[in-house]
Amino acid sequence: MARTPGYDGAVLGVLGRGARFRSCREIHRDLNRSSSTAPPPSLSTVYRTVHRMSREGVLDTIRSPDGERLYRRCRTPVRHHHLFCRVCGTVEEITEVAEVGEVVERIRRTSGFAAIDHTLELTGLCPRCH
Ligand SMILES: [Zn+2]
Ligand SMILES: [Zn+2]
Repeated sequence: MARTPGYDGAVLGVLGRGARFRSCREIHRDLNRSSSTAPPPSLSTVYRTVHRMSREGVLDTIRSPDGERLYRRCRTPVRHHHLFCRVCGTVEEITEVAEVGEVVERIRRTSGFAAIDHTLELTGLCPRCH
């Protein structure tokens, strides 16, 4: 399938406005509101663009407690994990935990898998919500 060029910048523009993680639907709605993207992309184009940017490491992704994928442009350039508040949706960034890397390395050695990737998603109640 041909790649639809041109929406990466617009997606980054939408996500650059806030620290909040947003769903594809929210990104799509905001893109359709802004006049900078003409014609406005379809929802499936937004899904494809955002998924690709997440694979390329441009966007961070987490899964909300109700199972929806959410995206954000993170402040931390190095690999990190997310701590998501189930009540208010606040996300804290925590730096990669060395022990997690060691566990993945051990699994790599014993499983025969290569290029193992992993995500660690933690949800809880932030200091304001408990
Ligand atoms: Zn992040
Ligand atoms: Zn909270």
